[in-house]
Amino acid sequence: MIGIVVVSHSRALGDAAVALAVEMVAEDKRPVIAVAAGLDATTFGTDAMAVAEAVGAADSPDGVLVLLDLGSAVLSAELALEFVDPSVAEHVRLTSAPLVEGLVAAVVTASTGTSLEAVAAEASRGLAGKQDHLGDVAAVESAPMVAGDQSVEVVVGNAHGLHARPAARLVGLVNGFEAVVTLTDLDTGKGPVDAGSLSMVATLNAQQGHRLRVGASGAQAAEVLAAVEELAADNFGDAVVVAASRPGGSGLDVAIGPAVLADAAVDLSGYVAGDNEVPRLDEAVGVAGDELDALRDAGGEHGGIFEAHLAMLDDRKLLEEVRATIAGGTSAPVAWKQTYDTLAATFEALDDPYQQERAQDVRSVRDRVLQHLAAPASAGAPAAEGGPAEPAPSGRAGPSVDGAAAPAQLDTPGILVVGELDAATAATLDATQVAGIAVRAAGTTGHGVIVARSRGIPLVAGIGDVAVRAGAVVAFDARSGVFDTAPDEDRVRATIADRLGERERAIADAPAPATTRDGRTIDVLVNVGVVQDAVDVRGADGSGLVRTEVLFGNRRTAPTVDEQVEAFLAIARALGNKPITIRTWDIGGDKPLPFLPQEHEPNPFLGERGLRVFRRRPELLRDQLAAIRRTAAETPVHVMFPMVTTADEVDWALHELGPRDNLEVGIMVEVPAAALRVATLAKELDFVSIGTNDLTQYTTAADRTNAAVAPLADGLDPAVLQLIDQVVRNAGVRVAVCGDLASDPQAAVLLAALGVTELSAVGPQVPLVKARLRQADLSQVDTAAALAARDAAQVRALL
Ligand code: PEP
Ligand code: MG
Repeated sequence: MIGIVVVSHSRALGDAAVALAVEMVAEDKRPVIAVAAGLDATTFGTDAMAVAEAVGAADSPDGVLVLLDLGSAVLSAELALEFVDPSVAEHVRLTSAPLVEGLVAAVVTASTGTSLEAVAAEASRGLAGKQDHLGDVAAVESAPMVAGDQSVEVVVGNAHGLHARPAARLVGLVNGFEAVVTLTDLDTGKGPVDAGSLSMVATLNAQQGHRLRVGASGAQAAEVLAAVEELAADNFGDAVVVAASRPGGSGLDVAIGPAVLADAAVDLSGYVAGDNEVPRLDEAVGVAGDELDALRDAGGEHGGIFEAHLAMLDDRKLLEEVRATIAGGTSAPVAWKQTYDTLAATFEALDDPYQQERAQDVRSVRDRVLQHLAAPASAGAPAAEGGPAEPAPSGRAGPSVDGAAAPAQLDTPGILVVGELDAATAATLDATQVAGIAVRAAGTTGHGVIVARSRGIPLVAGIGDVAVRAGAVVAFDARSGVFDTAPDEDRVRATIADRLGERERAIADAPAPATTRDGRTIDVLVNVGVVQDAVDVRGADGSGLVRTEVLFGNRRTAPTVDEQVEAFLAIARALGNKPITIRTWDIGGDKPLPFLPQEHEPNPFLGERGLRVFRRRPELLRDQLAAIRRTAAETPVHVMFPMVTTADEVDWALHELGPRDNLEVGIMVEVPAAALRVATLAKELDFVSIGTNDLTQYTTAADRTNAAVAPLADGLDPAVLQLIDQVVRNAGVRVAVCGDLASDPQAAVLLAALGVTELSAVGPQVPLVKARLRQADLSQVDTAAALAARDAAQVRALL
């Protein structure tokens, strides 16, 4: 095996580059790597004598490859060759390959016992993957490959696609056989590329779920294909982590169980400060970081949340601040808490409600570290599996509240009562142990609520300050919004049994169309925020709303057109290529896009929202429309523009869209003005979709995120129903509803009776909505009474 020398001006840089590269291969396969970097540990510079020594240390009969960083590194290395024995110098090769990428490629290739020449060629192509991905002009030249005599098809199961480590394992494997092996990504059409070259494999940029054709020819073609199949089945050597965010809950909206209070501070009463506060903190931060790493890798679409938590944990400035406070004589937990409390307060003071809700992410990170300070792993304390993010109904990590002890051991799953629900908790709690979640805060835009709902965990929000005793049996019914601290247990259990039966039957029947008893077929579709929503749903007739701002809401940079196409196609595939309705970016109000910052507005829900934003800044919208058109070339797609008010806006959007080809085009009706003049707006459209969430808040002047006015913002308010009726009568095109009202089976019947032909609901409700429609005779629904009712309560009573 060849040896490798790294020459750098910086010792830290050289060592870190080596540490990164050797991660890619198993310990017993690593080549010898010698570092000649820096004049000492902290002084920058290169020294020819040190390079000569490194060459001697890495020398091998197979040769030595020298990778270098800048300017004088090259001169020093050349000079070093004058100092070493000529018989050694003649098999040393200096390469112009990029230091980091080249070293990674070299280490991986060398580990397979390949020749110096082949390793050097690989190192030189180290930038290939990046260049190809970013579309740099200097794209890689490589000999065209033929696909091979024999082939198999494998699927990339790894959460982050065929990234460096799994790719390195593949390369290491195929190079051990006497065969030429190629890879073709059947989902993108890229390839065939040389599977024995890390840089070529990187150019495929194969993502999770992509199908790869592996071709092989040569003496061991069959053997290598069998080995690749085995490696792929083993997730290319990556640990298979069951996505923590699945499986989900019962999908019911009613729950009962002993209260598990998890809204109290971490108990640090047993903490004794010493003279080793900084190491204790570092250990706790380290363990928390490992947990978050694992959660990110396991978190599927929700992985981005933990990426954000990791960024909050690794913030160097904050850590310095905590260390400085400790140096001033404060204990680690107090110093840590102070700094993160201040950060949380900063988020809370922001005007933007979405940013305010990020304070709960900060508190989640804060408590994760505090838990480890309270019960350090090194002290042998039984740290709660999954850390503080996993509230334990067993009482394992249950903090005390109001002096009451958390329940010692529960026989039945509990109701988790939380002040606010952070995403880590929602994604990682064991849904088989938690009967439901009761959230004191009313907000619905928090990641935690979104994640829990998408997992089908029974949840009620906005229960307020109601006093709850730990361990006492509580119940809630989210259909009525009632949280009961002294429930009639038999009655609740009977309701649960009924609803479970109802749900099971509905799921069994879900694939059948929702045809009412009087013969009207209503399409019932699913609202999608993450791809998994489309995967999990049963019986959806497509998607009536893809919330693109949620789909890419964890991104710090705008997704490329390719990335958008990929996500849209994944959704369509999961839904069996039934039509998907892609809504263009709907930002503003409570929904910012991190990569499209907006200016502060005094009244954001009445400000630049949805389509309004893009009239001034159309670039991002144009990219998205390009992605939508490309997706439409492969699968049925409807495009929909949000927050439309005027006919001018519709004209502008249609102009931006350009030729419609096979696209169906619609707008959302969320503004009362749009509902009233829908006939004018819909002239050139194929459909309109009513967003009852916003239509309700604008009709009733009740901010949908403000718990204080929540009772006013009721989608069954007759004023809202009258607007819906007006839209159905006058639109002249297909009318859908994709607001949350469509997820309520009773309301769904009324909407269908009013003439709505398409309903888009949250995934777990789709089978129930279909089942309820099948039982209904729409001609018997007294729509006139509902429209003339005094208030929402009267409409509900009618239903
Ligand atoms: C709505 O307003 O009803 C809707 C579906 O859009 P969003 O909830 O995403 O604002
Ligand atoms: Mg809306």
